[in-house]
Amino acid sequence: MKLTDMSYAYEVMERHGIAPKKKFGQNFLTSDAVVCRIADTPSEDKEVGVLEIGPGIGTLTEALADRYKKVVSVEIDESLLPVLAETVGWRDNVTVVNADAMKLDLPEFVKEHFGDMKVCVCANLPYYITSPIIMKILECGPLFESVTVMIQKEVAERISSAPGSADYGAITVFASYLADVKKCFNVSPGNFLPPPKVTSAVIRMKPHKTPPVDVKDPENMQKIIKAAFEQRRKMLAGALSSATCRVSKAQISEKIEEAGLPSDVRGEKLSLADFARLSDILEI
Ligand code: SAM
Repeated sequence: MKLTDMSYAYEVMERHGIAPKKKFGQNFLTSDAVVCRIADTPSEDKEVGVLEIGPGIGTLTEALADRYKKVVSVEIDESLLPVLAETVGWRDNVTVVNADAMKLDLPEFVKEHFGDMKVCVCANLPYYITSPIIMKILECGPLFESVTVMIQKEVAERISSAPGSADYGAITVFASYLADVKKCFNVSPGNFLPPPKVTSAVIRMKPHKTPPVDVKDPENMQKIIKAAFEQRRKMLAGALSSATCRVSKAQISEKIEEAGLPSDVRGEKLSLADFARLSDILEI
């Protein structure tokens, strides 16, 4: 029986005395069609390994295990381990690890569990760590073949938006520097237990093998992008001068012009290429 069969899911949870916990962002999937669509997204190559973050009671895990060679699922909530041992632990190709995904050394973890295999990430992410965990994964560069995550629709739109649009933000620019991002489909609250307050969306990111722009100091570019969007209503020169005491506002304005941009430009108008050009001549 599949865990999307709700009478089975309720029976398992009741028998183990557990209920979804808000503090861990537990909204379990209940729709077989949605689970299959997410599980089909990471790769057409069935020989890949999949790193799942937050298996919950194992609903997506079982669909991934049906499709891919190896699945390693990292779950923070210790109370779910007996449930997972029963629902997916019996499968030869599933390993459950009790850990906080935010604290993992991902390159080490991947080497330990997958060796030389190609690895994809697939997860219905807990909403409270959406942006930091996506950044942590993308910062691993080409370690992962693809990254498929379900997140709030609003964040999915922010990550995949164009410069100048209302959704465009620091995470959009970082994500486009690190990966090709594609929004795949929306998932309405009725497909979860309990239903979240917002609509969700699945995005698929393919980390770049080589970055789309050459930057001398990626960390400096990251600082500039962060500062530019921290005060997005301010002009870029003002926003950057609030973030540094190394250069004056007048010097920053000069560098903005030198990068071929109007001195009164706002950060939200800059493309990734603009940020790259600016960061090569301005250190903050
Ligand atoms: N994959 C399951 C599903 O789709 O039904 C559950 C998804 S639920 C939205 C998020 C899961 O991530 C929960 O099981 C939660 O306990 C787990 N989780 C939350 N924070 C975590 C963290 N820092 N590291 C690993 N797992 C985490």
